[in-house]
Amino acid sequence: PNTQYEILRRRIFSNTKEMWYFINSSLKDLKKKANGIAPELIDSINYIISMGLEHHRSLMFDIEQLEIVDGYSVWREKEAADMSNLVQDRFRYLQNPENCKTARKLVCSLNKGCGYGCQLHHAVYCFMVAYGTQRTLILKSKGWRYHKAGWEEVFKPVSDTCTSIEGDSFSNWPGHEDTQVINLPIIDSLSPRSPFLPLAIPEDLAPRLVRLHGDPIVWWVGQILKYLLRPQEKTTAMIQEAMTKMGFKRPIVGVHVRRTDKVGTEAAFHGLEEYMSHVDEYYNYLELKQVVDKRRIYLASDDPKVLLEAKKKYPHYEIIGDPSISKTASVSTRYSDSSLFGIILDIHMLSMSDYLVCTFSSQVCRVAYEIMQNYYPDASAKFRSLDDIYYYGGQNAHNVVAVWPHEPKKNGEMHFAVGDLIGVAGNHWNGFSKGRNVRTNQIGFYPTFKVKDKIQTAKFPTYSEMYK
Ligand code: GDP
Repeated sequence: PNTQYEILRRRIFSNTKEMWYFINSSLKDLKKKANGIAPELIDSINYIISMGLEHHRSLMFDIEQLEIVDGYSVWREKEAADMSNLVQDRFRYLQNPENCKTARKLVCSLNKGCGYGCQLHHAVYCFMVAYGTQRTLILKSKGWRYHKAGWEEVFKPVSDTCTSIEGDSFSNWPGHEDTQVINLPIIDSLSPRSPFLPLAIPEDLAPRLVRLHGDPIVWWVGQILKYLLRPQEKTTAMIQEAMTKMGFKRPIVGVHVRRTDKVGTEAAFHGLEEYMSHVDEYYNYLELKQVVDKRRIYLASDDPKVLLEAKKKYPHYEIIGDPSISKTASVSTRYSDSSLFGIILDIHMLSMSDYLVCTFSSQVCRVAYEIMQNYYPDASAKFRSLDDIYYYGGQNAHNVVAVWPHEPKKNGEMHFAVGDLIGVAGNHWNGFSKGRNVRTNQIGFYPTFKVKDKIQTAKFPTYSEMYK
């Protein structure tokens, strides 16, 4: 297919959603206003909402059908597999140098003081820099807070042949081209910054990725996780056993409810009802396409009370979740060996789900979403976040480009011209996003459909020598 066709197809799909966010949320506001002054309007508004929703579902259905009837499904599957094989081959080549004694290395310590999702993202960032600077990544993980014995207890070593940090010359970042071993700090203290940080994708892959995938950076992160998280046999066995025991079956929606220490500090509280309203809508829509024997969710949370609450309030749902979660409930045992399997399992189950409902402010859900990309040619639209849009901690500015002009119609809206760059702060899921116009410095709201993502690329090496 030509690239423009694939981009258009995805754009119509996401802007259909945006249109509905706008109309639905405007009508809900109108209902609140009508409540006091014109209660006789409420029925009419409800009627528009319910008919509008049917229109919306029908449009979504037809756009999705397009992907099935256009004849490119086989191509999409093959292209996704080819792209993945290409980068996985390069990763193996980089990580298994012929001579470890002379190989250039980048050392990354898994000692960032944060949760599991955050540590995975730390490792992924290290890998991006390693790939970009063509240095073999050495992951130092002895004493890791999630497993004192280290990463290799649960995942395959990141190299089969080269795990020693030894070398002739050492330096902290940035070092020199010919420094053999360079120590990489955490992304927050990286100075100077590297060109290979998110949201940059490798320039040589960009044309193909832009055609294949709705959010190339998520694909790129997903590929690195695919390499890093190759499980040891006993990890695979544990996951298999848990999946069988819990009765993991499709269709299934993955719901992640992040509570405890996150609420009020890094994220706002969202009631279970809010998550479930999106799950309900997912299934209402799915029922247009297939018979749904049972509405099913996989529920992951750091707060064990959520699972009990859900089972009580949603008896018509089949709810599966890890009941041993109570072990991870107290913040003192959260970041420990004993909680490692629970979080590996939850992330795995979320990533295996058909759709994710969660808060992207949590790295747990973002990791699940990234891994999910490995199971489909393009899973970039298989989520609903209650708060943030996708981001990568420590990323460079996320810019979008205006494709339509915008004149403010209400207080708080911004002005832009076609071609203006806007740094996105977030989507308010009501048809509007917030951002800063890079040209005018104006901060404000703008209709999300009037922009498109600006894909960032960097000149990563292309590893052409590996075929010689
Ligand atoms: P964030 O703080 O939500 O952005 O994500 P992090 O992964 O950095 O830290 C949160 C930590 O809380 C995780 O690593 C887990 O240890 C724990 N946690 C959060 N949500 C869940 C969950 O759904 N299941 C389990 N088992 N643990 C969780």
